[in-house]
Amino acid sequence: MPFVDITGHQQPISLLRATLHNGRFAHAYLFYGEPRVGKLMTAVRLAQALNCEQTDQTEARDSCGHCRSCLQIGARTHPDYFVIEPDPKATTPQIKIEQVREIEQQFVYRPLVGERKICLIDDADRLTIGAANALLKTLEEPPGHSLFILITSRLHALPITIRSRCQALRFTTPARTQVEAALILKREVPPADARFLAVFADGRIGEALTANLAEVRARQQECLTLVNPETLKSSATILSAAESLAKTDRGEETLTWLARWIRDLVIVIVGGEQDQILHLDQLADLRRYAQRADVDTLLTLLNDIERTEQQATRHLNVQMTLETTFLRLREALGLFPARAPA
Ligand SMILES: [Zn+2]
Repeated sequence: MPFVDITGHQQPISLLRATLHNGRFAHAYLFYGEPRVGKLMTAVRLAQALNCEQTDQTEARDSCGHCRSCLQIGARTHPDYFVIEPDPKATTPQIKIEQVREIEQQFVYRPLVGERKICLIDDADRLTIGAANALLKTLEEPPGHSLFILITSRLHALPITIRSRCQALRFTTPARTQVEAALILKREVPPADARFLAVFADGRIGEALTANLAEVRARQQECLTLVNPETLKSSATILSAAESLAKTDRGEETLTWLARWIRDLVIVIVGGEQDQILHLDQLADLRRYAQRADVDTLLTLLNDIERTEQQATRHLNVQMTLETTFLRLREALGLFPARAPA
């Protein structure tokens, strides 16, 4: 697949294409930006473009996506192409020193078929200190035929010594309309679903393309049931919902959904852009809630949920957080608890 297949990222891609044209590559690149916006895909396309057997050298170099070389890179079996990434099954995914050492040994030799040996390091911020130091040595004296592409969505977590050895390219989140267009084209979903997924994924194209739509819709329905006045008015229902959600390990996800709904409601109250609303098919209900809701309380609640989401200990008290959130939401919506039967 050529570069045009990638949604967004015109800036880094034009720079890479210009470099493909003049051949003056840095030894190491650092692709950074939000997770799942297309950094890895661009890195793979670059590796393919460098090795593609179909490319006409007189034109702007790109990849065809179907020659032997392009397929081998896609399948990670190309002899000059290496990928290092943390073990996703590990409790604390890390890139270990042995992984870097192996690349070091491989890179002593010249490339077998192409002009360069390419090493792609995904989630480079997961390098252990030992691995980072080993990599730094290689980056300080890189073999002439090497090309390293480091990828991270947590730039600050990458040692500055490594950052300074790379040419950094920033990947911004593609525009929502671009994500929508890509979804309609590639997932062949109706425009309403494309819009929903694009807002849901917050512009993260990778997530929008792979998310299970039926599952996401089911979660949305569950959230709507939870914020229903009948649910919120019953303290017993609230408490048991919080308990069972925490037990099934979906407490944090539910909090995120509640935050999305509250955000939508705030947008309606303040008369913001309708286009930003995730639950657009619930607009009539949102307007009804908006009439009685207190925007300050909602904003404070939203802020608190977002803060909880960033805490390392959030999973420890998710049941309590859910309970509190439901109770505060009930208050913010001007709903009164149903009286317990005598
Ligand atoms: Zn090709």
